[in-house]
Amino acid sequence: MNFVTDLDVKGKLVFLRVDFNVPLDDKGQIRDDNRIRASLPTIVWLLEHGARLIIASHMGRPKGKVEPSMSLKPAAARLAELIPYKVVMAPDVVGDEVERLKKGLGEGEVLLLENVRFYKEEEKNDAGFARQLAESVDIFVNDAFGSSHRAHASVVGIADFIPVKAAGYLMKKEVDYLKKAVHTPVKPYVAILGGAKVSDKIEIIESLLGKADHILIGGAMAYTFLKAQGLGVGRSLVENDQIEIALVILDKARTNEVSFHLPQDHVLAKAPQAGAETRIVEALPFPEDMMGVDIGPKTVAAYAAVIAAAKTIFWNGPMGIFEIDEFAQGTIGVAKAVAASGAISIVGGGDSVAAIKKAGVRDKISHISTGGGASLEYVAYETLPGITALEK
Ligand code: ADP
Ligand code: MG
Repeated sequence: MNFVTDLDVKGKLVFLRVDFNVPLDDKGQIRDDNRIRASLPTIVWLLEHGARLIIASHMGRPKGKVEPSMSLKPAAARLAELIPYKVVMAPDVVGDEVERLKKGLGEGEVLLLENVRFYKEEEKNDAGFARQLAESVDIFVNDAFGSSHRAHASVVGIADFIPVKAAGYLMKKEVDYLKKAVHTPVKPYVAILGGAKVSDKIEIIESLLGKADHILIGGAMAYTFLKAQGLGVGRSLVENDQIEIALVILDKARTNEVSFHLPQDHVLAKAPQAGAETRIVEALPFPEDMMGVDIGPKTVAAYAAVIAAAKTIFWNGPMGIFEIDEFAQGTIGVAKAVAASGAISIVGGGDSVAAIKKAGVRDKISHISTGGGASLEYVAYETLPGITALEK
């Protein structure tokens, strides 16, 4: 994979795919511009080196039609405040007017295209649309790691029509860190998996079975595994249609050389609500009217001991319903253990990153992935469609 700084971009028309999918408030103001700021190293490098820069992104899910509330205009205004270069907002994604604006771009100037998802062809990876995006473009740069698990026209299809391609800084940083965990993990390699659903995480669990030394399970996912073993889990969140696959995973874990850890004790509650009656138990079955909402203190201690010996850690999915303070201790305990471990630690997933912030250990994590779904898919499949497209 080429890196953007390997290229001569002076005077070239560069198409840069970024992730400007920033959260807006109900007045259409940007609530958090982290994603725009995260792309600045690549944008500024390109402009400093004389690129004529087209920037493209999606915003929300307009489902293939023009949705004024999902326009990238606020992002254009913010970008113009952040960089000392001329930023023009395009009225569309493709078409005659956009072509005219592209041709008129000077060195060190930016044309931000409208939301690529205003066209249904984007998500269909339509070749004709990709060709239009690529019209007159010399170089394709992808810095949208968080969108690179999607085979969309501005991420994947476009690469077929532009011979020179490279990754931006953000993309490179993500891939460099994830590669360490995935291709050449320093051992012991410990994977921590939690969250609500087993079904979201089957591919990643299966791939980790062949690579990790320890898999620590928490969150609601644990109860599907416990129920698969024939244990009564009361009203805990269980995916009954995943019981079969849970059994297959447990079986594979036995034959592979991986230690597959399930919680040894549990915080139970009558309801997933603050103030609900709680109890800590070790023994199953759970009372019929209670549900597991967090891992218990004994489990935290056991997991912390495994984590302390780790050299590489990948974590996705909170250990309990961490949004509610009373059920957050398991997740916070594990987060502190990861922070104290001295291992290369990678955390991916929207809720997992929120949990790391809640635990106050954000600065002690080696790499916090900006792309939730993308980081999981990378760990499971060792590449992403958007990365393969850059390597073609
Ligand atoms: P991420 O966004 O990091 O990938 P997920 O979306 O997979 O994580 O899972 C996060 C969600 O899982 C949180 O909303 C959390 O409340 C929920 N969760 C964790 N443990 C439990 C549990 N025991 N019962 C119900 N929900 C849970
Ligand atoms: Mg989530």
